[in-house]
Amino acid sequence: SVGESYNLNLIGYTPGYREKITARHLQLLELQQALENNELFIMLQPKVELVSKKVAGFEALVRWRNSNGDYIPPDVFIPLAEASGLICSLDLHVLRLTFAAVKQLTDAGFELPVSFNASVSDLNNRDYTQEIFQAVKEHRVNPLLLDIEVTESQVMSDYRGFDALLRRFMALGMSVSIDDFGTGYSSLSHITKLPATTLKIDRSFVSGIEESEDDRHAVDMVAKIGQRFGYHIVAEGVETEAQCEWLRQVGCPVGQGYLFARPMTVDDVIAWLRTYP
Ligand code: C2E
Ligand code: MG
Ligand code: MG
Ligand code: MG
Repeated sequence: SVGESYNLNLIGYTPGYREKITARHLQLLELQQALENNELFIMLQPKVELVSKKVAGFEALVRWRNSNGDYIPPDVFIPLAEASGLICSLDLHVLRLTFAAVKQLTDAGFELPVSFNASVSDLNNRDYTQEIFQAVKEHRVNPLLLDIEVTESQVMSDYRGFDALLRRFMALGMSVSIDDFGTGYSSLSHITKLPATTLKIDRSFVSGIEESEDDRHAVDMVAKIGQRFGYHIVAEGVETEAQCEWLRQVGCPVGQGYLFARPMTVDDVIAWLRTYP
């Protein structure tokens, strides 16, 4: 349940630490409340085939607007949830919203896969992993339309355990994406063995395409080597036509980013799909 004890020792002893801890604590309590009151929701961002412009799927991204109406970014509250033990309940909620989104899309005639993000604690949490296995077993969701996103450093933090778990997901027909690929543990010996179907090239490389030859080479290399080893490749954070053009040139098949669409509510996604392209 949500009401566990939280580790509030998130920051060191610095001047003003009391205020910071209090602010953190309040935000955590507010997040917990928001979760209990069902105020967290997801938005879906499309992944698009770069040549045909066909929609390849979506990523579910959690959103929180607090009681003041302020929007709090996941980069702020996800680390807070991870450090406090709230993350599993939060991501279980996201998981259920993802299943609902898959159903809503399918019912509207759009059979497209949806990704969801998982943290290390989720992969270690039986309630979380069982929710996936049970939903598939009970035909509540089509595993072919599910994609779990984990970062490489998360996988590497317990390679033996997570390798087995992620391969069980793959055996169900789910896809497994390595998020933020290139920022973690990447080494050639690992790329051949990752328990994944897909590599998502981190946005930091994509955003450097126009200015940095190194980033262009990095993107080129991941696209080529990744596909050589049998992974699907997705580029994150595609914002410009020039980036898109380079990605096409180096054979990267799919991209996600503001160039194509911002994250949207599920209803807006369905309306968007009806008029796309
Ligand atoms: P991520 O999984 O790498 O998600 C991609 C992030 O890049 C999203 O930020 C998305 O809105 C943003 N993005 C997409 N296209 C562009 C672009 O063209 N330009 C720029 N500048 N940004 C773009 P968001 O939604 O703020 O999420 C941040 C991170 O929070 C995510 O990174 C993920 O690590 C985490 N996160 C989001 N939702 C969840 C969730 O439900 N559970 C967990 N555990 N983590 C989540
Ligand atoms: Mg992601
Ligand atoms: Mg990512
Ligand atoms: Mg990223």
